[in-house]
Amino acid sequence: MINAGIVTVSYISATILFILALGGLSNPETARRGNWYGVAGMTIALLATFFGVVTQNYTTLLIALLVGGSIGLLLAKRVQMTQMPELVAMLHSLVGLAAVLVGFASFMDPLTHLTGVELTIHDIETYVGILIGAVTLSGSVIAFGKLSGRIGGSPLTLPGRHLFNLGLLLAAIWFGREFVIQSAAGGGMTPLLIMTGIALLFGIHMVMAIGGADMPVVVSMLNSYSGWAASATGFMLSNDLLIVTGALVGSSGAILSYIMCRAMNRKFLSVIAGGFGTSGGKAAASSSADQGEVAPIDAQETAALLAAAKEVMIIPGYGMAVAQAQHVVNEIAATLRARNINVRFGIHPVAGRMPGHMNVLLAEARVPYDIVFEMDEINDDFPDVDVSVVIGANDIVNPSAQDEPDSPIAGMPVLEVWKGHTTIVLKRSMATGYAGVQNPLFFKENTRMLFGDAKETLDEVFKAL
Ligand code: NDP
Repeated sequence: MINAGIVTVSYISATILFILALGGLSNPETARRGNWYGVAGMTIALLATFFGVVTQNYTTLLIALLVGGSIGLLLAKRVQMTQMPELVAMLHSLVGLAAVLVGFASFMDPLTHLTGVELTIHDIETYVGILIGAVTLSGSVIAFGKLSGRIGGSPLTLPGRHLFNLGLLLAAIWFGREFVIQSAAGGGMTPLLIMTGIALLFGIHMVMAIGGADMPVVVSMLNSYSGWAASATGFMLSNDLLIVTGALVGSSGAILSYIMCRAMNRKFLSVIAGGFGTSGGKAAASSSADQGEVAPIDAQETAALLAAAKEVMIIPGYGMAVAQAQHVVNEIAATLRARNINVRFGIHPVAGRMPGHMNVLLAEARVPYDIVFEMDEINDDFPDVDVSVVIGANDIVNPSAQDEPDSPIAGMPVLEVWKGHTTIVLKRSMATGYAGVQNPLFFKENTRMLFGDAKETLDEVFKAL
């Protein structure tokens, strides 16, 4: 057992390391260092808690650490890059579950003998902690289902859903009042259980009501919730580090949600209320039947077009992650650059299935950071681009976001590739993207479709180059 002073110093060091980790993760060049800061911070936090805060039940704790750690290690080793978003959603649900369990444990703890205001404050902490935890738990499980394709992407829009949500909120507040009153008299379990049920239902309904294209906001929002749930757990356990770390995750997740909303031109509250793009017009307006023919191209012709270009823009999307084509993309970019062709990458903020997805893949393939640009930095440059190569991207280059007010992605800023000289789209079929809408880009006069798995076709293009 180490003394309280050392625990405090360790907690402060861990907090500083977590802040440095967040700072590092904001840029691909410093992300690796940021990760190490996080690992160091968490190691210090675990050691200080283990040797300085815990006083008994070491065996149980060791077994739990061993089991949890092994499962985490196994999952992290096994997970494919394309499954990362689902894994993250699942991990968020565990934070929610922990907050619920700790909340009930702290409510039932026979060693807590609080009275008066102290008891009320503790009760409110417990109630709010379980509430946020339960919403995070069920919301993340549904998000996991949607991201892994186990649950359909289209929004569930119950009639009167806003009233339903409002009813749940009011009920949660009323049962909160009941809980505090009954707890002072030695009871309170019934309202606590009812509220947990309400919060679980709210989490399910909230995420079910969100359409496919708005999922990025949900993912970052649940990330934020998981932080607040951890913070609430910190209050219940009187653990300063958990409070601060939870608040860091909660607020950075909230900022990310704001950035995602801005990237998609959505209002945060409207996304949470759900039911975007549910007007019946979407299928009719975007079905492929009335859009005409597409013009295919093969790998040799693609290589010839690229070799003759001066300005090339590469737009990666989710399909690049599925095909694991990032390495050959890097080789093609390097070959073209060696021939004095200006190659740039344009990254849409919601490309792929998680924030920063494409940046991670390109960094893994060692694409130089200085040729990777955010959408806002390059979207005006397309008129000067000779060849745009769209690799497994769909929704993020869909002009119907601008042209079809009824589309589920209406208003979402998109990469305006069609303004370039020639666009080559790599995908396997005419299937739609995540939002489930057909893409008029494929039918434009200056678009060529290179059908097939992106890795296989790009291997051929590379050979031809
Ligand atoms: P999309 O999901 O819209 O499109 C991906 C395309 O890749 C598909 O049309 C598919 O077509 C193609 N594809 C799949 N596998 C392969 C392969 N092996 N080789 C070649 N092509 C392939 O992806 P985008 O990146 O354009 O857009 C992201 C979407 O995901 C947006 O709607 C966004 O809102 C949503 N989203 C984003 C999150 C985030 O945080 N970034 C989180 C959750 C959702 P085909 O099957 O014909 O090959």
